[in-house]
Amino acid sequence: MSEERSGWVVLKFGGTSVSTLENWQKIVSVVRKRREEGFKVCLVHSALSGVSNILQDIVEQPDENDLMQKVEQVKQKHIDLGKTLGIDTVDLLANDFEELGHIVKGIELIGEAGYRVHARLLAMGELMATKLGTAYLQKELDEALWLDARNYIKTIIRKNTTERSQIISAVSTTDYDQNTADALDKAGPVIVTQGFIGSDSEDKTVVLGRGGSDVSAAYFAAKIGAERLEIWTDVPGMFSVNPHAVPSARLLNHLSYEEAQEIATNGAHVLHPRSIMPARKHQIPIHVRCTQKPELSGTVISAEASEDEALVKAIAVRSDVILVSMESLGMWQEVGFLADAFDVFKHFGLSIDLVSTSQSNVTVSLDPGLNDHFQDIRDEFVEDLRRYCAVEVIEDVSAVSLLGRRIRTILHQLGSAFEAFQEHQVYLVSQAANDLNFTFVVESEQVDRLVRKLHEQVILQSGNQKSFGPTWSQLMNEESESKDDGEAWWKDKRGELLTLMEGNGSMYIYDTDTVKRYAELIQNIDAVSFGLYAMKANANTDILKTFHELGFGFECVSIGEVEKVFELFPDFDPQKILFTPNFAPKSEYEKGMELGVNVTLDNIYPLQKWPKIFKDKEVFLRIDPGHGGGHHEHVKTGGVQSKFGIPRFEIPELKELIATHNIQVKGLHAHIGSGIKDPQSWKDVAVILHNVAEDLGGVDILDLGGGFGIRENETQAGLDMKSVNESLNQFKEAHPQYDLWVEPGRFLVATAGVLLSKVTQLKGKGEMQYVGIETGMNSFIRPALYGARHTIVNLSKLDHPANQTVNIVGPICESGDKLGIDRLFPSSEEGDVILVANTGAYGKVMSSNYNLRAPAEEYVLN
Ligand code: ASP
Ligand code: MG
Repeated sequence: MSEERSGWVVLKFGGTSVSTLENWQKIVSVVRKRREEGFKVCLVHSALSGVSNILQDIVEQPDENDLMQKVEQVKQKHIDLGKTLGIDTVDLLANDFEELGHIVKGIELIGEAGYRVHARLLAMGELMATKLGTAYLQKELDEALWLDARNYIKTIIRKNTTERSQIISAVSTTDYDQNTADALDKAGPVIVTQGFIGSDSEDKTVVLGRGGSDVSAAYFAAKIGAERLEIWTDVPGMFSVNPHAVPSARLLNHLSYEEAQEIATNGAHVLHPRSIMPARKHQIPIHVRCTQKPELSGTVISAEASEDEALVKAIAVRSDVILVSMESLGMWQEVGFLADAFDVFKHFGLSIDLVSTSQSNVTVSLDPGLNDHFQDIRDEFVEDLRRYCAVEVIEDVSAVSLLGRRIRTILHQLGSAFEAFQEHQVYLVSQAANDLNFTFVVESEQVDRLVRKLHEQVILQSGNQKSFGPTWSQLMNEESESKDDGEAWWKDKRGELLTLMEGNGSMYIYDTDTVKRYAELIQNIDAVSFGLYAMKANANTDILKTFHELGFGFECVSIGEVEKVFELFPDFDPQKILFTPNFAPKSEYEKGMELGVNVTLDNIYPLQKWPKIFKDKEVFLRIDPGHGGGHHEHVKTGGVQSKFGIPRFEIPELKELIATHNIQVKGLHAHIGSGIKDPQSWKDVAVILHNVAEDLGGVDILDLGGGFGIRENETQAGLDMKSVNESLNQFKEAHPQYDLWVEPGRFLVATAGVLLSKVTQLKGKGEMQYVGIETGMNSFIRPALYGARHTIVNLSKLDHPANQTVNIVGPICESGDKLGIDRLFPSSEEGDVILVANTGAYGKVMSSNYNLRAPAEEYVLN
């Protein structure tokens, strides 16, 4: 038989997958399903979870005196699982247990384990586990045969490899192999064999390197010309970013072999990087799926990504990168500088990963993982290299990579993503020659924030359904109560909303229950003693009353806002108002002091020019923490680019001014921006304010600002309030002397509001379809002003299939009057009710009569 589609599928199950009865039941159902579909099944599996680690420990610490206890541990794991599977393991594995005991006895006697022994010992894990697995399958399916993988995975000797790697991380050929194919055909239709192990030309046992079961499965698939390789693991596929760091990571529905290779090589641990090439060589599709959730389709890896797939598919991070910067004027127009310099790297056995060059500087990064010895040789190496240039070793940096394909062609689209780097040094930028990888090296401290930011802008904003599936949190149902769950209240109240719209024009509707739900999230932050509502977000009377009832204070940015609070609540304690004007005229400060509210100075100018107003009084100071954050340039309110706050370099002068005029600094305030999802941000601000407070003395209150990010749409993760709470608790424990305040605005009200309007006209301009609605930027300017992306739905046709791509536009005479661009939408008709979500903040308050079109009215649901 030649290499043709053989009717085989290879299923690989990892350690966690084969360690419980529950999972084994899932495995049985998968095998059954494949059989029903007409496939023959080659099931490759790993050792039971934890077993390889214990065996590895024995090899690494052979002189410990509890080696036999470790053997007992390993045996017990098999016996325990056997019990739940209904198999007499002691009988089934009697010989293996004996062999295991002998090997370890030998190690104990000699006090060390050579490579051969190492391989034999680790192989026991797979041999025992698969015997147990086969017994269970035989019991459940009546057709399963155990094969010894060492008869088929014959390894080869590569040039320049050490004895160690030939035995401990061996490789096999990836050609179709008639003998293996015939043997399996004879033994089939269901065979069970081991991952991770093989044998060399002397028929001695070798292993393929830790995590090598994936590689074994790929070898088997190649050798028997399988129709598909399925890697079953404990996560639902490959993700756009490490989901443990960024829970809004999205499932990657499809990857080309090249993309998968790039992602696996860059540290996604789901799939062993060496398992892709054998499948690619024979064009065997790889499916990565989750044993616990076999109903999910997982990630499919196959040939060429199609034109309609996203170009950037994933973001990878490698931390603890080391950079070597070489500076020399001499290298300009000089022959041989690089050769000399790289020779030094070679001499010290240092492997270089990325390189970037300029006229007078060459900076390289060392391959993480391949240069463990760097610290030992560091001084000698640097000294040697100094013969050619000035040398600086830069540590605590991380490499962030955008992975996908044709990245070069879309760099211009990444403009907004790169705003994230505005305030931070980028040490090195490198674009891989294969155009699959664009990498930049930045300070490690900044990485979490930057990755979230990039992920938000490059992947979460992408509506590409073909490439991206649900988020990790959605798949794992991990949304906890202490998170902004972004639950769309308007789906539940749809009937009510549609009725309201029957006789009415465009309307903002606010849902009081939702306001209260978000208020509670803020009030549940233990370390915060007082919350102020930043009323500029939405100054609707009923909303203000709700916050008043809930015990919130108010943060006001103009005297008009202060006066509105007193108008509504005449007896309001002025000390619960924080007045934070910016570049306001002198008269507003006078008025504020007269009313007895907390006045915040965000510039030293008022103290220099109008000291009389503040003499012998208490004030708040707004400090520029030196960096900004947020979803768009215009909403960042920290850093020199921003007009807000007193820069820290002015603090000495400030100290003099307050001393001269006998002014007491009651509180410090900082606000870094809006839409922040990094739960550490407020603690970072607290630390900075604390340092300034120490310097000034006498400060009681630290107001950490607002900026709490909401879940903008169903693809995003909510701000993890539990982590916010934990990090602030840490601060509070260390510095109990302060009262901590926060002053959220948008977080409290955005989700509670929707803008409703009706379809006026439809237009089709070739490819581009327009859905016109009765109101536009006159009611809601955020999309035009910040490029904000709000979820928009046709509420009248909520369950109709969204099968067209449209722009949703208003009636204003401005090209920018677009509420949504390139949205998947159902086919719509004149009069349909359209809903723009999360418009409870900066909606009505920013609306205008532009074009003399009255903006939407407000209506509150109680
Ligand atoms: N059991 C081996 C290990 O833990 C191989 C594998 O699980 O892929 O490294
Ligand atoms: Mg694995």
